Amino acid sequence: MFDLYQIVRPNILALKPYSSARDEFSGHASVYLDANENAYGSPLSQNYNRYPDPHQHTLKQKISAIKGIPVENIFLGNGSDEAIDILYRIFCRPGADNVIICPPTYGMYEVSANINDAAVRRVPLLPSFELDVHEILRATDAQSRMLFICSPNNPTGNSLHKEDIEYLVRRFPGVVVIDEAYINYSRQSSCISLLTEYPNVVVLQTFSKAWGLAGLRLGMAFASTAIIDLMDKVKPPYNVSENTQQLVSQALTHIDQVNEQIRSTVRERNALIHALSSLPIIQKVYPSDANFLLVKVTDAHALYTYLASHGTIVRDRSKVEHCENCLRITIGTPEENQTLIAQLKAYSA
Ligand SMILES: *Cc1c(COP(=O)(O)O)cnc(C)c1O
Repeated sequence: MFDLYQIVRPNILALKPYSSARDEFSGHASVYLDANENAYGSPLSQNYNRYPDPHQHTLKQKISAIKGIPVENIFLGNGSDEAIDILYRIFCRPGADNVIICPPTYGMYEVSANINDAAVRRVPLLPSFELDVHEILRATDAQSRMLFICSPNNPTGNSLHKEDIEYLVRRFPGVVVIDEAYINYSRQSSCISLLTEYPNVVVLQTFSKAWGLAGLRLGMAFASTAIIDLMDKVKPPYNVSENTQQLVSQALTHIDQVNEQIRSTVRERNALIHALSSLPIIQKVYPSDANFLLVKVTDAHALYTYLASHGTIVRDRSKVEHCENCLRITIGTPEENQTLIAQLKAYSA
């Protein structure tokens, strides 16, 4: 049923990608006069005068070893947000194709659709925050190019049922993009396991959350070699900076520290759920597989304003579907969480 080359935009299929200086000469030389770089160096203690590796080869090999995924199945971008935009540019003919999103969910799927002039079909999650699989398939037609599934979902915090995801992957005629930005905090395993069986799956992960590297901007996409080749063809040649490639490579050697932080975050998440549940202004704390909690309160706007005036900023999500009077609260350090609870108690009193 799924035929990749039927759904790729014809101009992208025909595209001849930019050939960089480093593509045209990839051996080793002593004098590089081919890329119009400044040969003298940079006005910094470290030199960045040379363009970075456009294929991020060293970094991809390290990620490949950790994830157990071949290099050919990995795309690296300037955050997951770049991967999302590139997928739109590969699959959605502006003004003609559509994508399906399941609100409440991450806002970039819709913004990127609007930028790329793709129509958005919104099939809300059920009140249980699970996928409405039958409505999703009913909303699907021959111009449906992508289905975005965020698991664990932002802002609701829950992981979506894997059986529902696989059910949709089997039936959806386009690409199913599974955004796993919060997977490191989840009790559910990654959908990377679906990649070997299904050619229409793209899994997104990021260094912005559990890895603590949001400022460096590095996102990953895992997919078939055919999809990865298309993403590489469309991306700007030097989309991941030298600084990012070097620093993320270093960070990958400290996976124990990252795992310890994940355990602390989960511990703090449980403690915060417990503390919040006993406060009368908190009507509901939703279960979370992520590094944040969605909470329903009596008056979200008033509470948001109170917390902000005391120096604590949370996210007011009360305007989105199924989230009336809801705030999204990121798990902080133990001290930050104590501060939050003290402020909530003072507000309650
Ligand atoms: C934070 C987040 C991301 C991360 O995006 P980057 O561009 O990699 O920083 C992706 N998806 C979701 C759902 C997020 O919440």
